[in-house]
Amino acid sequence: WLAVENRMSAVDFLAFLTGIAVLYPQFKNFNGLTATYQEGSAALARIFQVMDEPAEIQEKPQARILPRLEKGLKLEGVCFAYPSGGDVLKDLTLEIRRGEVVALVGPSGAGKSTLADLIPRFHDPRAGSVLWDGVDLRDVRIESLRRQVGIVPQDVFLFHDTIAANIAYGRPEAPRAQIEAAARGAQAHEFILAQPQGYETVVGDRGVRLSGGQRQRLAMARAFLIDPALLILDEATSSLDAESEDKVRRALEGLLKNRTAVIIAHRLSTVRLATRILVLKEGRLAEQGSHAELMEKGGTYRMLVEKQIVTA
Ligand code: ADP
Repeated sequence: WLAVENRMSAVDFLAFLTGIAVLYPQFKNFNGLTATYQEGSAALARIFQVMDEPAEIQEKPQARILPRLEKGLKLEGVCFAYPSGGDVLKDLTLEIRRGEVVALVGPSGAGKSTLADLIPRFHDPRAGSVLWDGVDLRDVRIESLRRQVGIVPQDVFLFHDTIAANIAYGRPEAPRAQIEAAARGAQAHEFILAQPQGYETVVGDRGVRLSGGQRQRLAMARAFLIDPALLILDEATSSLDAESEDKVRRALEGLLKNRTAVIIAHRLSTVRLATRILVLKEGRLAEQGSHAELMEKGGTYRMLVEKQIVTA
């Protein structure tokens, strides 16, 4: 009508039509919005439920900042039970001195992971204490403890993000040169460059799939980057192809250099990287020593090797 009445030019009229055509689909989207919003708010309610859950581990108001590990870690008479059952760790006393690489070995269910979880204070012992340079972990600022503990888990979680961001997630501000140095240390640089967008390749959920060995090396690159005072490594039990196996081993050797580490070990070749082997059995420290000493002794460790529970 405006155009016919000459109150609007033909050009404006066309612009108006184009505007409608552009906007229409956007308006249509509003329809879907309510459904999306409802799904989202239901999910959010669940997230808040988790966030509101009181933490099992509480920090004392007067908790102190923990300086970097100097002498070592001690467990004194540690007993631990999960809420659902009896003692999983029974009166454990042991020491890990700075610079030592300790292998935890034992049958499945012996308490190796539980013991490792006490170090970053994921749980508190029921009795006894875990001492970091003589300071009880219950008296320290959790953040100052966990910043010093690097964990390479058995199942590596990759975020739906670039490889660079995945390596840097413990230190998001790390410059690219350091991320690459960490990847080199973890024997990962070459396979990363071979990805479609190199360090910018998106991995994880809905991203490029990586092999087990490659994921492990990314986890090690993360650990290299944060340079932890104490490293906890849960060796993967799944076997890798020979080439990956070799690269993971070399990455591990690099990572363990001048480091204090606790390795939950399943392979003889990994056990051999350790300065000392601790053998756990049913929550107790059954034996400790070197591979040769323990083979000589003919106890639990030798049985594990002979039954190939610790395998080549
Ligand atoms: P390992 O690492 O040597 O295989 P774990 O530390 O995983 O042993 O387990 C020690 C014991 O604690 C096992 O009997 C296991 O079933 C039990 N356990 C482990 N995690 C939990 C948990 N979250 N809740 C209850 N029991 C658990």
